[in-house]
Amino acid sequence: MEFVLGTYNQKKAEELSALLVPYGIQLHSLAEFDNAIEVEETGSTFAENAALKASEQAIQLQQWVIAEDSGLSVAALDGAPGIYSARFSGDEATDEKNNALLIERLANVPYPQRDAFYTCHIALANPTGEIILTCEDYCHGRIRSEPAGSGGFGYDPLFEVREYHKTFGELGSSVKSVLSHRSRALRRFIPQLLQVVNRELNAGSTTES
Ligand code: IMP
Repeated sequence: MEFVLGTYNQKKAEELSALLVPYGIQLHSLAEFDNAIEVEETGSTFAENAALKASEQAIQLQQWVIAEDSGLSVAALDGAPGIYSARFSGDEATDEKNNALLIERLANVPYPQRDAFYTCHIALANPTGEIILTCEDYCHGRIRSEPAGSGGFGYDPLFEVREYHKTFGELGSSVKSVLSHRSRALRRFIPQLLQVVNRELNAGSTTES
């Protein structure tokens, strides 16, 4: 059984593939499909946006699609940037501009009040666009006043991981693959995905015989 990863974010795709491929799950990227679409994130929650990205792409491609929506919520900013994490600094946002804006917004906030967490919501849609599985998980930490390290992507150079007192920028991908919101959500998701694979394969063999 094959699945399409419904993301154009290369870094996200790498992190998701690294965790899924060892389970023998066959993945395709959106780049392999000429007719793949850019799904508009019109939802008001991570869950709604993940479902939209999985469902609309699945209908378009007639494929099973795994999609995720993720972002950073900062307590001192009342949960911002949240679902707007990718576009925090506007239409022309880049990771650098988003990080600069975050540093600016938190300039007067003392370190003990810089708590933040990442959320990752994963959704699986079947080829008719029905959502079959969803999982959500988090990673808690604090926002530094200066970037540290060049690993990861997005807000990682500013995001200090609670367990290590280092940013995801400083910690290698092996640590991120254990502690991140994406890896935690995926570890809940994989056993359920394997059940879906078994169910579908059994249904297929019953139909064939
Ligand atoms: P999405 O593509 O709409 O889900 O937006 C995800 C945005 O959230 C990214 O562009 C980053 O700004 C932020 N984000 C999500 N996951 C991570 C991560 O693992 N590290 C750093 N930033 C992240």
